Amino acid sequence: MYGADELPGVLSRAKAAGVSTILAIGIGEGPAEMHHALEIAESTSSPDLPIIFASAGIHPQEAARVDEEALARLSELAARPRCIAVGEIGLDYYHVENPEPEIQKRAFVAQMEIAARVRKPILIHCRTSELATPAAKQKFGTADAFEDVLALVGEHWAPLGVGGIMHCFSGTMEQARRSLELGFYISMAGNVTYPAASGIREAAKTVPADRILVETDAPFLAPIPYRGQRNESALMVHTAQFLAELRGMTAEELAARTTENFRRLFPSMTATDN
Ligand SMILES: [Zn+2]
Repeated sequence: MYGADELPGVLSRAKAAGVSTILAIGIGEGPAEMHHALEIAESTSSPDLPIIFASAGIHPQEAARVDEEALARLSELAARPRCIAVGEIGLDYYHVENPEPEIQKRAFVAQMEIAARVRKPILIHCRTSELATPAAKQKFGTADAFEDVLALVGEHWAPLGVGGIMHCFSGTMEQARRSLELGFYISMAGNVTYPAASGIREAAKTVPADRILVETDAPFLAPIPYRGQRNESALMVHTAQFLAELRGMTAEELAARTTENFRRLFPSMTATDN
């Protein structure tokens, strides 16, 4: 998403904006690129830049590319200390090009098994099916991505007690409640600031302070007043500011809570902190 030459600028702007730690999402454009974020995390160490951790995972849109070799590579990446989570994994019935639900479910379960072996939290990508394109609705019929995610997580993940994140949460209050029950944290991206997102805001208000997180979803979903531009870590503070106001707290309080939540969810991070 950023050229290698842009990375130093992105990282120093983040540090200047007050972002001290980044979890870089390692999905790339498919399994062949899922190691990139981890390599950046492993090779970045400077007091002038944020501390970077990474995830690795195969996004549901790439589920058709999940084979034994890809899963073996993911197992290797997931075991490395700087890799603190497996994801984005999950289900997405939003686009007609997305793989059949059975293929997506198999890829999702296989990756939860890898995460279970290393006992690292999972990052769930799930776009609600109500908003799917008309062609996708025809293809996927009555299948509901969120219902299917919750069912699979309930069976294959929640009993472990390792937890995870509902990333870029865009569901309802009820879906947030059920995710919390399964041990998940709810992470809000820049779309919470968009005027039409009243449902997301309702959910964002009700998530307990010890379960909320903020993120960019960069390069997408830049918060207002940067909507439509390429998103980057520095802009996350606008989402945090907005969320703090929405919840009737100061930005400093929210930052303290989200930092505390992040550290609680990722205990393996403290061990490799430097
Ligand atoms: Zn996602």
